[in-house]
Amino acid sequence: MKLYEYSAAELSEMLMTGKCSSAEIAYDVSERIKEAEPAVGAYITLNDSMLRDAELIDNARNRGGLPHPLSGIPIAVKDNISTAGIRTTCASRMLSSYIPPYDAHAVDCLHRAGSIVTGKTNMDEFAMGSATDTSFFHTTHNPIDTAYSAGGSSGGSAAAVCAGEAILALGSDTGGSVRQPASFCGIVGFKPAYGAVSRRGLIAFAPSLEQIGVMGKTVRDAELLYQLISENDPMDPMMRTCSCKHSSSLRIGVPKELFDSTIVSDECREASFSALRLLETDGAVLTEISVPKLRYAANIYYVISSAEASSELARYDGVRYGHRSQNAAGLESMYVKSRTEGFGDEVKRRIMLGTFVLSEGSREAYYLRALAAMRELRHELDAVFDSCDIIAAPTYPRPPFSANEAQSATDKYSADICTVPANLAGLPALSVPCGKAKNGLPVGIQLMSPAGAEQRLFAAAKKYEELCGGFAQFRGGSGYAV
Ligand code: GLN
Repeated sequence: MKLYEYSAAELSEMLMTGKCSSAEIAYDVSERIKEAEPAVGAYITLNDSMLRDAELIDNARNRGGLPHPLSGIPIAVKDNISTAGIRTTCASRMLSSYIPPYDAHAVDCLHRAGSIVTGKTNMDEFAMGSATDTSFFHTTHNPIDTAYSAGGSSGGSAAAVCAGEAILALGSDTGGSVRQPASFCGIVGFKPAYGAVSRRGLIAFAPSLEQIGVMGKTVRDAELLYQLISENDPMDPMMRTCSCKHSSSLRIGVPKELFDSTIVSDECREASFSALRLLETDGAVLTEISVPKLRYAANIYYVISSAEASSELARYDGVRYGHRSQNAAGLESMYVKSRTEGFGDEVKRRIMLGTFVLSEGSREAYYLRALAAMRELRHELDAVFDSCDIIAAPTYPRPPFSANEAQSATDKYSADICTVPANLAGLPALSVPCGKAKNGLPVGIQLMSPAGAEQRLFAAAKKYEELCGGFAQFRGGSGYAV
């Protein structure tokens, strides 16, 4: 077995007992990148000093330092998470030559633990999309079958972990962008509760909804990376700690709105149910629940996230940083041309939608109504957590689609119905592989809990991982088709 095929937890053990070095792991991963990258396209920028960084970590370890379990482990970073001195583009022409002067807090955590950054992964432009096909650079392909999409927007991060081009990865999740690509690539993706991980250095799309999230081959791997990056950051005023009573039972709420056959394909519903039945044989109690506002979750999400995007992306005006048009005659024309040339179609669509829902006359009808509906959804979810410990749903209503499938914007938007509720309510949510669709690609099941009850999610997911015999089977044996 090559070193890139192991989990982070296994490699950590091997490093601690001297069975391999960080330099050997980094070498194997870099060779794997050379081999798989032409077909997969997981990265935008590679970290040129990865091998040197790994040697430095080995030296530190030999001197007795670096006790952290993730020291020496290669980790990919989504390209909307700032890395000092390494280009951070958000997969946009607008930031195609932007080099941040500082590290995001999560990246700072990786460095302090002695983890190795492999590079910056491809994504949908400004994290808007579900297929990593709105990137200015290239489309990312699913390593399990490169005719298929890796999902998005963190498709590069998911593909990198799936293909062994990194051992772990950071992504960002505004409406499902960690969980959906994780499900497409047969790996584990975790979106933390709102405020559980610092957003400092994450380039904003819709700040009231998004979080940096983690991806790995196993639940334990995702948990290890989450533990590392969830350190308190006094410079993010939105950080908060929640706690929840421990619950020894496992009552799983099954919301009928997210299993509705008009929304979810038979394949995805069946795969989720078979996972739930397996947990039931182990003592979990399944209860059907109803959360009526879930039906509107995608509508609410697209109004609020676009409104925030239109305001956040106003800063890209060609003046201080970002693309500046060379063909402008005056100041007004410079703003217009810089933004016209710098942003792709999907980003422009969101900015226009967001500007519209905030404009006079539409604000009450759309934006304020969406906020009110979001509050009602939160109340409904709070109420169901009185009778269940976690809520389960398919991660995505349909199996992975082909890499260049033409889909209307509204079809893509409505397919986010299963992932966006956790963002609207600030809940932690985890996607784990639970089966394969007819096309041979993996599908995932999603578990959500109240904020502060992350341990319940990790415990339930680990239990399922154990009962189903591990997730590698859903990636197709070892999971390396490229
Ligand atoms: N697909 C969603 C969107 O396009 C999710 C994006 C995300 O989580 N960053 O907005």
